[in-house]
Amino acid sequence: MSKIKCRSCGKELFYTSISDIPTFPFCSERCKLTDLGSWFDEERRIDEPTTNEKLEDYNE
Ligand SMILES: [Zn+2]
Repeated sequence: MSKIKCRSCGKELFYTSISDIPTFPFCSERCKLTDLGSWFDEERRIDEPTTNEKLEDYNE
């Protein structure tokens, strides 16, 4: 069994195979998204074109 630390929150993860952790090297999908958020910021803007709508709400 091997051990890693979640790259986002530092939680220790134990596994026998990397495939045991779908979110490797993170403990959870949430940490994965948090850590990669900046990397995929451009992609997420395309996937979630709600930014403009929210800004319009602020104007009203
Ligand atoms: Zn984590």
